[in-house]
Amino acid sequence: MLHCLPRRLRPVCICVLAILFTGTLLAQEDPSWMEPFPAFKIVGNVYYVGSRGLASYLITTPRGHILINSNLVSSVPQIRESVEKLGFHFSDVKILLISHAHWDHDAGSAEVKKLTGAQYMVMDADVPVVESGGKDDFQYGNDPGMLYPPAKVDRVLHDGDQVALGGVVLTAHLTPGHTKGCTTWTLKVNEAGKSHNVVIVGSPNVNPGYKLVNNSTYPAIAADYEKMFRVLRALPCDIFLGAHGSYYNMEEKFAETKKGGPSPFVDREGYKRFVDEKEQTFRSELQKQSAGEQSKAP
Ligand SMILES: [Zn+2]
Repeated sequence: MLHCLPRRLRPVCICVLAILFTGTLLAQEDPSWMEPFPAFKIVGNVYYVGSRGLASYLITTPRGHILINSNLVSSVPQIRESVEKLGFHFSDVKILLISHAHWDHDAGSAEVKKLTGAQYMVMDADVPVVESGGKDDFQYGNDPGMLYPPAKVDRVLHDGDQVALGGVVLTAHLTPGHTKGCTTWTLKVNEAGKSHNVVIVGSPNVNPGYKLVNNSTYPAIAADYEKMFRVLRALPCDIFLGAHGSYYNMEEKFAETKKGGPSPFVDREGYKRFVDEKEQTFRSELQKQSAGEQSKAP
């Protein structure tokens, strides 16, 4: 890859790669990803069954359950334990969904399928990535540290598709950019006579090393981020959740639930603030990268 660059740019590039590689290692070693976290009920039939750093959700129905995010291969026994601590059977998971095709949310999918026989349903543009175990990823496909066991997709989803089981209906919203098929899930949950719009954000983050300008492996990346922010803004949200608990201050909110009172997970303002902040970060990164490209022009 470096050979096609002018010689004077090569050391800079190597340096950037070194930083990226270090960043990757740090990300993979984030201890919070494997740190257990108590399983708990968020609202109605929606439960948190992830670790401290990686969110996973169980949505229960009388006809079996839906699991969102299998996380790392090593997360699967943890998720299983969380499901069982809540009094449900892991083997009753009938449908497996993901936030997006990155190893920290989908590496355990082959194992979950094997243990439960769940149907794996994935947004169209993320299907080649999960079925190649990450090799088809536009950014990390050549990084052995980010690859994982491939898992066969049983149903290919398209933007706006619904996933229904036992009276529960989830809608898959394509919110691309972070991955090509990044998915934000929504559902309505009734509790104590109130209906809540639940939004589980796929990811609005621009990862270190993402090229928003002249990206040969993902030419539409910037336009896709723009689309994603439009979609997130248009979604009605009462209960704000996401692929990582850090998006919505999961730990603080969980601690607050112990005090009683109204559910801290009802957080319409927090959702808007989050989308605003992430969009600003994206725009300043895009501006920085566009300015860099312009200064390179003859
Ligand atoms: Zn990701």
